[in-house]
Formats: sequence, C-alpha cells, structure tokens
Amino acid sequence: MNGFTLRYLSAERCALCRECCLFDRYDVYDTPLITAEDAERIHALHGGIRFIPRPDGEYIFDMECVGDVRCCPALGERGCILGRLKPVECLLYPYMMVRAGERIFVAVSDLCPVYREVSDELLRAEVQDNISFFVQIAHQPRYVREYDGQRLIKEIP
Ligand code: SF4
Ligand code: SF4
Repeated sequence: MNGFTLRYLSAERCALCRECCLFDRYDVYDTPLITAEDAERIHALHGGIRFIPRPDGEYIFDMECVGDVRCCPALGERGCILGRLKPVECLLYPYMMVRAGERIFVAVSDLCPVYREVSDELLRAEVQDNISFFVQIAHQPRYVREYDGQRLIKEIP
C-alpha cells in the first residue's frame, strides 16, 4: 500500500513534533497494528524493535517507557525509521477510518498540530484526490475504529 503522501506534513515537521509516536500508558493497546509478516520483516531489519502479540493474532510494538509515556521503538532522531514498512495506521495519520452506524468516514485527529489548522474543505480535497487509497483501507475492518467524536471529513462511498 503506497503512493499516498500527506501534502500538509513534512518529515522535518514530524521529526520535531513526534506527538503521534508517543503514547500514554493506558493508550498502548490502541497503538498501530502490525501483521505477523511485517513484524518479522521489521525485526529482521531492526533487531532492536520487539513486538507484543495480541489475542487477535496482530502485533503491537513493545514500547519503551519514560515515566508514564510509552515511546515507539521505531522513532529515531529524525522521525520514524520504518520507511515502506510503516504500519498502515501511521501512514494514514492524522487521518483515520471511523465507523458511525453503517457508514464509514475518513476522519482527522485534532491532536495533530498541523492538520487541525487545515480547513475541512482542503482536507476533503486531499481525501478525494486519494480516494482509492482510503476506499482500500475502509474495506479492512482491522483499520476502522468506532466513531468517538472525531472530526469527520468525508464519507467513503
Ligand atoms: S502529530 Fe502530526 S505533525 Fe506531529 S508527528 Fe504526528 S503527523 Fe507529524
Ligand atoms: S511506527 Fe513510526 S510513525 Fe508509527 S508510531 Fe512508530 S515511529 Fe511513529
């Protein structure tokens, strides 16, 4: 899954911010999902990165602790070191897929200091320009979370 870039972000901006790669202790179970295959690939390239299996067969990163904060082990000095092996949810962020009843939407996180300043109109245009990417993800239930007050941008047809 590639070919998608977020036009309002830059690697430099994210490397300075790091907000979405740090998690509160109680958020750890909500961190990006990694398939067994990708966990194996990542571990082969970056031996220091370890994973925790979940009961559903997915994996999550074994996060390092700094006080109450958990830091993703793939976070380097210049941001994420995973390149094309970045988990789908990270590739997508600050967008996310949200289910509200029977409908699925692309939503955007208000935690991202860059994207929370971008208007709905511009975000809708970005989503529309990449609609086949979002539709592909919307059909994978593992990436769709329940609506919880997120800022909805566009319904997936
Ligand atoms: S919160 Fe936004 S700006 Fe900050 S690292 Fe994540 S995507 Fe980049
Ligand atoms: S995999 Fe990369 S983008 Fe995702 S949380 Fe870890 S460091 Fe951040």
